[in-house]
Amino acid sequence: MSPILDRFDRPLRNLRVSVTDRCNLRCAYCMPQEEYRWLEREEVLRFGELSAIVDAFCLLGVDKVRITGGEPLLRRELERFVEQLSRRSAIQDLALTTNGLLLAQQAPALKQAGLKRVTVSLDTLDEAVFAQLTRRKGLSDVLAGIDAAAALWAGRVKLDTVVMRGVNDHELEALLEFARERAVELRYIEYMDVGGATNWSMDKVVSRAELLGRLSKRYGAIEELHENSSAPAERFRLSDGTLFGVIASTTSPFCAKCDRSRLTADGTWYLCLYARLGIDLKAMLRGGASTEQIAARIASVWGARADRGAELRLDERARGPLLDASELRTDPRLEMHTRGG
Ligand code: SF4
Repeated sequence: MSPILDRFDRPLRNLRVSVTDRCNLRCAYCMPQEEYRWLEREEVLRFGELSAIVDAFCLLGVDKVRITGGEPLLRRELERFVEQLSRRSAIQDLALTTNGLLLAQQAPALKQAGLKRVTVSLDTLDEAVFAQLTRRKGLSDVLAGIDAAAALWAGRVKLDTVVMRGVNDHELEALLEFARERAVELRYIEYMDVGGATNWSMDKVVSRAELLGRLSKRYGAIEELHENSSAPAERFRLSDGTLFGVIASTTSPFCAKCDRSRLTADGTWYLCLYARLGIDLKAMLRGGASTEQIAARIASVWGARADRGAELRLDERARGPLLDASELRTDPRLEMHTRGG
């Protein structure tokens, strides 16, 4: 079935499903505040409800699903949801993004349940920097989780590093070496000014250009892989064959090929990470709407989609945080950790 297209001919193909807004870390680029307004527990969808909504998306051509959070491994019996989704033949690619703290324990059950790929956030190899960045302990658990994943999903594990100037940008090479030694692929992510990043400022961003410049000083010529993919990461190769990626949403947005949308754990659908408003699919589902009726709603909304949030932010001269803490407290869905990044 040919996917439906939005106003910029971008297909509805890739759905990120958040299963919880809770997290066991407080990363400075995502959850810098002390206090948060959380989704009401009774508002959070059961796995069966989430799967029913995913079915409506699959009717329209969605074939890639990524499970996110908050921290998805905090959701009890997550392997049951993975199993439900892995039984859906329409879903060709079933992935998960995690901070890795609970991964070592849960990896075997997730693999058994049919999970195909894993992305682990790893921003530092230094315990002190980890504590500073996340305001929690646990780096050794994250590293153990990465090793467990690398063994179970050989060649299908990626590491995401959000680079912040003066925090972890002195570890660019060490993180790449760590990834190379484990045959996992590292992606450097530019610090983004999304909802929740209330301490964001441009001077803390290490841009794609600077990243590549610093890496080529250490590793020599870097080859860019020109791939026709909607994936957010541009990929590069070092002379020794090491592959890595750069996700440059802040200085070099990729909205033109964005086929991603996000479903929060309470069933609100966002067409863009920067979108203020979302579509309440839970009300339709709990109101008794059929899969086809929900799909019809999704199709009409996507057809009118013209979101390109990061591109529009690029044009803003006095660019500061997208939202301040008081705005964020008006609606927990404005937070990146509720939308699953
Ligand atoms: S900013 Fe919005 S439109 Fe652009 S890539 Fe991100 S989610 Fe897609």
